[in-house]
This record gives sequence, C-alpha cells and structure tokens, in this order.
Amino acid sequence: MCGIVGYIGSRTAYPILIKGLQRLEYRGYDSAGIALVDNGKAFIHKCRGKVRDLEQIVKGKNISGSIGIGHTRWATHGVPNDVNAHPHRSMNGKFVVVHNGIIENYSHIRTLLVEKGYKFESQTDTEVLANLIEDIYMSAQCDAESAIRTALQKVVGAYGLAIICTDEPEKLFGTRKGSPLVLGMGNGEYFLASDATPIVEYTDKMLYINDEELVVATPKGIRLTNIYEEVDKKIDVTTVDMKLDNIDKGSFPHYMLKEIHEQPNTIADTFRGRLLADQHQIFLGGISDVLPRLARARRIIIVACGTSYYAGLVGEYLIEEYARINVEVEYASEFRYRNPVITSEDVIIAISQSGETADTLAAIRMAKQKGALILGICNVVGSSIPRETDAGIYTHAGPEIGVASTKAFTAQTVVLTMMALLLGKKRGEISEELYNSLIEDLATVPATISRILADEEKVREIAERYKGATNALYLGRGVLYPVALEGALKLKEISYIHAEGYPAAEMKHGPIALIDNLMPVFVLATKDKYYEKVVNNIQEVKARQGQVIAVVTSGDTVIRKMADYVIEIPQVDEPFTPLLAVVPLQLFSYYVAVMRGCNVDQPRNLAKSVTVE
Ligand code: GLU
Repeated sequence: MCGIVGYIGSRTAYPILIKGLQRLEYRGYDSAGIALVDNGKAFIHKCRGKVRDLEQIVKGKNISGSIGIGHTRWATHGVPNDVNAHPHRSMNGKFVVVHNGIIENYSHIRTLLVEKGYKFESQTDTEVLANLIEDIYMSAQCDAESAIRTALQKVVGAYGLAIICTDEPEKLFGTRKGSPLVLGMGNGEYFLASDATPIVEYTDKMLYINDEELVVATPKGIRLTNIYEEVDKKIDVTTVDMKLDNIDKGSFPHYMLKEIHEQPNTIADTFRGRLLADQHQIFLGGISDVLPRLARARRIIIVACGTSYYAGLVGEYLIEEYARINVEVEYASEFRYRNPVITSEDVIIAISQSGETADTLAAIRMAKQKGALILGICNVVGSSIPRETDAGIYTHAGPEIGVASTKAFTAQTVVLTMMALLLGKKRGEISEELYNSLIEDLATVPATISRILADEEKVREIAERYKGATNALYLGRGVLYPVALEGALKLKEISYIHAEGYPAAEMKHGPIALIDNLMPVFVLATKDKYYEKVVNNIQEVKARQGQVIAVVTSGDTVIRKMADYVIEIPQVDEPFTPLLAVVPLQLFSYYVAVMRGCNVDQPRNLAKSVTVE
C-alpha cells in the first residue's frame, strides 16, 4: 500500500525522489526513506514519519548520485519506526530494496536464511526478500538480474519492487506482482513509481509493468523480461494525458476540499462524450461491445470495497429500478473467499478508484475463471483492474489525492447511473419519454452541485456546533441509504468520530437506544417517495431529544420546523439525489476534521490505494 519511486539518468536523483514521494504520500505515510548510489556505494536515509521528516534528517548528509530509490511506507510487518522503514539493505550490503506489498512466506524464508547465518535488523518481510536475493546472488555467483529472478520464483505474495545492486550500480531493477508499478521513459533517463503522478512532470511516456515482469533500466535503455524466463518482451509504451495542476492543491488548504469543489467539473468530465443530453442519448464506449451480453445478464454482481461499495449500492437501486436486472453488491474481501455461485450468465462489475484494490482484483480473477463477464469502473487509467477486465468505463475524475474519497464516489455513481438508464432503455424497461427527461435532468447535476457548494458556509457553521460530538448517526432511505453510509464513513475516516449509517426505518431496531440530547443525527429527507416516512423518523429522533440535521429539498417548510438545522439541496429527479446529498456530508466531515486539528488529507492508519488484502 506504500509508494515507491526510482530514478536512473544523468540528473541528481534526490530532488526527483523526494518530489515523487510527496506525490505518493497519499498511499502510505508512516515512514519514508531513500537510497542513493554515489561512486558505486549506496547511501540510505530513512526515518519514521513523513517525507518532510526525511528531508530534515538528510540535512548535511550525502545526497548526491544519479541513481536512487525511495519509499513511503504503510506498515504491514513491524511497527512504523526508523529500522523498519525502507529501503532495506541485505546483510552484506549487495542489494537495496524498496517494497510495496506482503511476502506471505517470509517467515519460512527467514528461518532458512537464519540457518545460513543471516542476521536481521528489522521485523519486515522486505528485509527477508533483500537477503534472499543476496543469498542467491552470492551462492550461485550469478548476476543481479538472475538472482532477482530466482528469488522471486520462490516468493509467495504481492510485491512492487525497486532494487539496486551495489556491484552493478548502473542498473535500476523494477518488478511487480499484485502491486502497481509504472516506468516513465525519458531521454536517457527512467523513472519508476507506483503510479504515474510522480512521473508526468518529466515524461508522458509510460510502460505499465505487468505482474511477474522484470524491467532493468540503465541510462542506455531498458530490457523487459518475465521472472520465469529471460526472453525479451515487447515494450508497450502508453502516452498518458495527465496535467500537473491536476495533482497540485492550487489555492485550497487541503486536497480533500479541492476535490470536493472539483465535483461539478469532474462529473462533467465523466459525462463527456457519454451523456449526449441534446440528442437524448447515453453512449458508453468502453462497454458498447459487451452491451448485448450485459443487457441479457441473469444477474449483475457489483464487487467493491469502502466508498466504492457504497457507490455500488446506489447502482443496485438504480439498475434494479430502471433495468429490472437482479443486482447484488458484495464486499470483495468476503465474496472472493466465499465460493460464491457464479455462472457465465452473470456479469461482475468491479469498482475501484485506484484500480489496484487487492481484494477487488482477486475477486474478479476468481469470477473470470467461472466464466462471468467482467467489467470495471476505475479512475486510474492503465491500472490493474482495467487491464484484467473484459471491458469497462473510466470515471475520468482526475487524480484523487485526499485519502478520503469524494470526487471518485460521485464519478462512480454517475457511471452507474448512466449504465442503469442505458440498460433500462436497451431492455425496453423505461419509456422514451422518461428516458429523455431523466437524461436532461442528469445533465443539470454539475451546475446543481455548484449551487450546493456555494452554501458551504452554512455547513461550516453546523460543523462548528457539532465538532465536539463523540458519536453520530446518519439515516436515509432508498438511494439515500448508501449516502448515509458514505456520510458516516467520511466522518469516521477523517475526524475519528464514531459514526454509523442506517436505513432510516432500521433506527428503531437498535440504534435509537443511543439517541440523547448530545447525539447529532443526519437525516436525508428530500422530497421523494419516502418523504412522509422520513418525517416520521425525524419525529422519533426529536421525541428522544436527538439533534437533527436534515438534508432537505429547497423550500421544505415542514422539516424546517422540526429539525435543529436544515441543509437545502435543489430539487432533482430521485435517482440523482445521491450525487447532491453527499456533497454537504463531505463538507461537514471536512470542516469537523479541520476544527479538531486532524490531518485531513492523510488520516491516521489509512492509505489511499489498498493493495494489501
Ligand atoms: N510489507 C512491507 C512492510 O511492512 C511493505 C509494506 C508497504 O507496502 O508499505 O514494510
């Protein structure tokens, strides 16, 4: 789940590595480190903490050299401390390694190495791998490339690796299995990174390394092989279109706030070329070839984790409503281990912002073997899930750096909404008239979100009032139930306030016992078919002195009289309310977290791209 970077070329590596780590810090941020090769010697600097702490400790030390690797860690094996921080050096100093992932059989390998006299400084699985490579290199007296290849054949688990060998200091090695790795191709220089964001500043030419491939880069060129055979593979270069200002904060104090505010634009980007409102058409190019099979599906199974799972739940309501196809939404981590019943008439839709979520990736691999059609909804172009699915739709929300997902959620929801309407039309389940009017209304969503964002100050005031809360409840019905779950998750993630989302009617089956005069209860209460029922739920909360913050349709006068606070959102067709109602909840979590002094963009214990199982 960490970020790895590497550089080889003629420039000084240090600033490139540091900047790269800063861009990747969203992936993990409990420790940071770099190794630089200068005159054939590797100098390692590493510490617990952030990249800025690393910058402090290198002051006055040797940071020259034009080959180097770097790491920002999200600990899996061993607590975050200076010793467990990467890079890890093998015992005799021949290899230096940074690693993203988990070596599952590390304990067995470690025992074998200890028997051979190896000593370990850290508790990490990574140091075991560094020593395994060295042991093979020294005992087989082979070159570094062969030693790496042989070692990886013995390893079970997931890895993205950047490796340096001090005996062959003019080479940078990169390889992956399960964890992402990209090689940027410059002029006489190469950049390795967990994703393209640290590289786009230097080149737009990328080689997305596939599982079990090994790349060896020297300033003269690269060689790509497989870890099982030494045969050269074709270099498939992709030109990426990512602008630098997409990955800078601009005038916003945090990425999260910037990304919340970007939503009118990101949703417009998700629509682009797909929602043709004036022609009353939806065109989803990424799935057009498989649309007949999708429309015939006996069942759609959406697999996802975290916020993407909640977007999937919105998709379930909408696809069942408009396309009348049976939909199930599954946590990927449960689905993959459960031996689920899957047939070739099923369609799996994997949703993942990063496209690298380990459990989701494993789930689709399993479903593929059972013959299902596999689709992906991902944000990161060229990531693993899009490469392993039969077809899919990119969300085009741009890089999401804040660890708590915001614009990716709305983009995923927009894609699922378009899919539901398109399938409904294709299957003859929605009338032409309804289809046309829904399309027209959907097209207004970006402008409507801008109006909600203009009321930000009101949400800030509410955050000021409830910033000291220790618990919160979020209630919603129908398509707004998943939004209640997402609102609660957002608050938990960044403010560390315990929060639960519930279907509003379920409150009386348990959570109502928690309500007292200190408990803020968010109720999503827009004018839809559940309105009267939700008004009753508000009465039930008020009867127990709960504090009600209601998200209502503009102009609502009934709830205004009952609730402690109301947040108005403009009237839209019911299926699109999740896209609007989630925005004030995102803002509320953001402001509460800022007021409580939390690190909004990098909340404790979390990481952006969950590439461990
Ligand atoms: N398993 C390694 C460790 O605990 C790498 C974790 C990561 O991906 O950051 O150090």
